[in-house]
Amino acid sequence: MDTRRPGAEYIGRVTTTPVSAPLTSGTPLSLYVLGRESDPRSERGVECPGDLPPASDPSLVERARRAKAALGERLFVLGHHYQRDEVIQFADVTGDSFKLAREAAARPDAEFIVFCGVHFMAESADILTAPNQKVILPDLAAGCSMADMARLAQVEDAWDVLADAGVADVTVPVTYMNSSADIKAFCGEHGGVVCTSSNAKSVLDWAFARGEKVLFFPDQHLGRNTAVLQLGMSLDDCVLYDPHQVDGGLTADQLRAAKMILWKGHCSVHGRFSPEAVDDVRVRMPGVQVLVHPECQHEVVLKADLVGSTEYIIKAVEKAAPGSKWAIGTELNLVKRLAAAHPDQEIAFLEQHVCYCATMNRIDLPHLVWALENLAQGHVVNQITVDAKTEHFAKIALQRMLDLPGETAKD
Ligand code: SF4
Repeated sequence: MDTRRPGAEYIGRVTTTPVSAPLTSGTPLSLYVLGRESDPRSERGVECPGDLPPASDPSLVERARRAKAALGERLFVLGHHYQRDEVIQFADVTGDSFKLAREAAARPDAEFIVFCGVHFMAESADILTAPNQKVILPDLAAGCSMADMARLAQVEDAWDVLADAGVADVTVPVTYMNSSADIKAFCGEHGGVVCTSSNAKSVLDWAFARGEKVLFFPDQHLGRNTAVLQLGMSLDDCVLYDPHQVDGGLTADQLRAAKMILWKGHCSVHGRFSPEAVDDVRVRMPGVQVLVHPECQHEVVLKADLVGSTEYIIKAVEKAAPGSKWAIGTELNLVKRLAAAHPDQEIAFLEQHVCYCATMNRIDLPHLVWALENLAQGHVVNQITVDAKTEHFAKIALQRMLDLPGETAKD
């Protein structure tokens, strides 16, 4: 995706309710302190078992090296672009979530896939790897707040709302890669598909060839930006389904008139970049090119010069001429690494008030050392497994994406 243009709304909300609240329409999400409490339905708030080495231990790097060497070819470490430097130095390959899942699938001899990323990514890796391969997430509290914004019970409720409005039969569900395995399975079972930020346009073309409408989740911004900027829809073609309101806060007539039914979810990092930050950086850095991820608000994307996936952002900087000036709107760890790798360019972080992805940063060196040393000692810890039925249908949704022309060659 590499376009720029038109304007919409952004709404984010966090509410507090008891942990035991049922997950139905109209029920707000629970708020947990990371690393405390537990919620088996969520990617968040799960304690990491075992004794972690202290972060102050000066031998952590050496311990990680030793454990990795002891495991040898049995181990393959994946590092998402948004991970900390202290962790990414141990990655055998770096990439976005889908690239990493495919890299894991291409290493059938690796018994242990240690995924330095978040929970939904490890699930995808488990789905795409062989049954004998074990996928490990060093900290189980490394979830994704966006993935948590669309839960299976909520999506099933939404599908019932669409059926009551008489439009479920003509709607194709499309989920972003950043969703839990059971949501991908829902799409597989209901004629739908998975997309990434690189291929959202091709996937939506596929979906609209099969239905009149798309139910797109969990990220409203990727859905809106792709529909309006790449498929030429108007903002009026899009409606926002709020799982915390009765019937999504929409009338049956609104659902019947819409082409894109966007789920009210967003990324806690990319959703925070503001249009004002774009105006501000253009004043502070004359000649700057603003480069943002499509999970950013529509108004931000409209003001940017370039928009594209994480891999697109990396390639844009890599091929830029010395002296190029960039203000980049994506996760801070990646922007800092790009700046360090390209000292001949001027690379700034787009927004002063946006911080690291809190859940990605759960994976730190103590957790990595703890996981690697346990594996080296024969203890499999924090294994992520997807049950057979969920895997079956999630694979169908993933395969529909992989079968798109040219898809196998893409990042
Ligand atoms: S950056 Fe956003 S989408 Fe990615 S893991 Fe963090 S919250 Fe989820």
